Amino acid sequence: MRYISTRGEAPALGFEDVLLTGLATDGGLYVPESLPHFSLEEIRSWRGLPYAELAYKVMYPFVEDAIPADDFRKMLDETYSVFSHQAVAPLVQLDTNEWVMELFRGPTLAFKDFALQLLGRLLDYVLEKRNQHVVIMGATSGDTGSAAIEGCRRCEHVDIFILHPHQRVSEVQRRQMTTVQGDNIHNIAVKGNFDDCQRMVKESFGNQSFLGGKTQLAAVNSINWARIMAQIVYYFQASLALGGPDRSMAFSVPTGNFGDIFAGYLAKKMGLPISQLVIATNRNDILHRFMSGNKYEQHQLEHTLSPSMDIMVSSNFERLLFDLHGRDGAAVKTLLENAAKGPVSIEDYRWKHARKLFDSDAVDDKTTCDTIRDVYEQNEYLLDPHTAIGVRAARNCRRDSAVPMITLGTAHPAKFPDAIAETGLSVKPQLPAHMADLFEREERYTVLDNDVSEVQGFIAKHWKNA
Ligand SMILES: *Cc1c(COP(=O)(O)O)cnc(C)c1O
Repeated sequence: MRYISTRGEAPALGFEDVLLTGLATDGGLYVPESLPHFSLEEIRSWRGLPYAELAYKVMYPFVEDAIPADDFRKMLDETYSVFSHQAVAPLVQLDTNEWVMELFRGPTLAFKDFALQLLGRLLDYVLEKRNQHVVIMGATSGDTGSAAIEGCRRCEHVDIFILHPHQRVSEVQRRQMTTVQGDNIHNIAVKGNFDDCQRMVKESFGNQSFLGGKTQLAAVNSINWARIMAQIVYYFQASLALGGPDRSMAFSVPTGNFGDIFAGYLAKKMGLPISQLVIATNRNDILHRFMSGNKYEQHQLEHTLSPSMDIMVSSNFERLLFDLHGRDGAAVKTLLENAAKGPVSIEDYRWKHARKLFDSDAVDDKTTCDTIRDVYEQNEYLLDPHTAIGVRAARNCRRDSAVPMITLGTAHPAKFPDAIAETGLSVKPQLPAHMADLFEREERYTVLDNDVSEVQGFIAKHWKNA
């Protein structure tokens, strides 16, 4: 399988190189040159497979040039055995034909574990083979950092440096990052905001000379193709559990960077019968505004009760735009260069096609709280604020009550106790047993000034073979 850039100019790469690269050299994102397609008969034959085995069936075509089948199977067994539920991605019923898929049974209690637990193992495997080393540098406002650290803690060939804005992430989120022990794990609290952290990461990827040519940077945000790939699997899993592929399914997906829902779109293209995909956003609703009025326009960032969806632009949306433009990289390049300067639209027939593929909704904080309360009062089931947005959007956008509607449960409510408190419910979400002592564990992090050369100096000094 070859991978090509959405902007059409960078060279095509194989899986190993795509794994180790961030953006393509032309500024685009990598996508597979063509997708595997599975017949209904083949999908049907996967009924009853354990999650790791299903993951193998769905993902192997993407990696087969780089990894022998047995090695990949072993990696997947290890990856999904760290989840705290035997079904890995269990379904919980909310109402007649309405479900939540719990994607928060991994070590850091958010769906990002599905991809980042695998990514850590993939990186180490490929780097071992190549006798290479990488430094992961990433900025986080919360969930990505902890999932990446957990995913890479045992990697021999990876040092990981995660920047978070000092005193601006929740205590649970900070502790999930800073209490993981390991010589290759480095938490940096930057005296600035999330945008400052992100800017430093971007600048460092652009000029890596501070590493002295002895190692290179690798990306763990969802521009990395391997993350999207791992997220395709659970769409198949949910469908097979509820009578697919002989009936179609609807999914509602709490969306920030458009990574998780893009994986659903790919599952559909790979042959899984999906009749509806709902883009669920908070008040940072650039995608909902585009879907409603064909105008792609950046607004000011709003801080909401669902911080993991607080974004101004959705980086993975570029991957969809590439398909909407008949995979014309030059057209995507022009469009996104213009989008950086002001509002843009696409040709009406392309936009109408997008509206056939996706429905959308935007949910504000008050409605998020109302939804958490409603579902708790109906079922004694506590949603986290991100999942609540998905459930609300599912209920607002649903087209056919005979089709199972599955909302992706993206995080455990115990990650967001302050949002739960805002609902006025007296119930307090409990951390699962494996994390019950989080507040007693020892923390380790370094506070640095909001200064890129200071941060780069710290990395240059502290990676393993520095
Ligand atoms: C990252 C995240 C999202 C958004 O996912 P995207 O792939 O960026 O759309 C939603 N909910 C939670 C809890 C997250 O951590």
